[in-house]
Amino acid sequence: MRFILLGPPGAGKGTQAQILAKTLGVPQLSTGDMLRAHVALKSELGLQVNRYLQSGGLVPDEIILQMIENRLQEADAQIGFVFDGFPRTLIQAKELEFICQKLNIKLDGVIFIKVSDDEIVERVCGRCVDVTTGQIYHVKYNPPPPGVEIKIRDDDQEEIVRHRLNVYKENTAPLVQFYESKGILKIVDGTGLIGSVTQRVLESVN
Ligand code: AMP
Repeated sequence: MRFILLGPPGAGKGTQAQILAKTLGVPQLSTGDMLRAHVALKSELGLQVNRYLQSGGLVPDEIILQMIENRLQEADAQIGFVFDGFPRTLIQAKELEFICQKLNIKLDGVIFIKVSDDEIVERVCGRCVDVTTGQIYHVKYNPPPPGVEIKIRDDDQEEIVRHRLNVYKENTAPLVQFYESKGILKIVDGTGLIGSVTQRVLESVN
C-alpha cells in the first residue's frame, strides 16, 4: 500500500493523509512535518532549512531526497506509506522512481486532491494545529474543542499562503500530468466536508 497525496497547500492533504494512513495501517510520511520537527529540535538540518519554511519556498531537492531515502528504510515504512507533501518537483518525482527501483518497491497510486485557489486561501488562513497531538483544525469549519492548546503555523499567513500557491503552480502542478501519463493518477474532488472528501479518497484507493 504505497500512495502519494498530491494537491495545492491547504487542499486537505495533511488531514486526508492522516486518515488514509491510519485506515491502511501504514505511516504518513509528511516531509513538512519532518522538516518542522528538525527546525523545532534545532538540528543541523533544521537550521539549514528554516529559512525556506519561513518564506514558503521549497527546500532544495537533494536535502528532501536524502531525507526520504533514509525514512523509507526505517522498519515501519516496509509495509507501505502515504506520502504527504512529497514529491513537490519533477526532479523529486523522477528521483523517487530511482529510489523505488533501488528499494524494489512500487507505487500503487497518486491521489490528486482538487480545490480552487480562493477556497485554499480561505481554508489555510483559518487553519490551526493542536500543540500536543498535531491534530489539524479550522477556526471556522472545524473548530478545536475548548481547552485544546492550539497554534497557527508561521507560514499560514495570507501573503505567504499566496506565495506557496505560486510555488505550487510553478513546481508541483506539473506532477499531475507526470503521474497521469504513468496511468496511476486518481483525481478526487477536495471540496465539501472532510468526511465526504475522505469517502472519495477511500473509494479511489479501492
Ligand atoms: P507542508 O507542511 O507540506 O505544507 O510543507 C511546509 C514547507 O516545508 C514548504 O513550504 C516547504 O518549505 C517545505 N517542504 C515540505 N515538503 C517539501 C518538499 N517535498 N520539497 C521541498 N520543500 C518541502
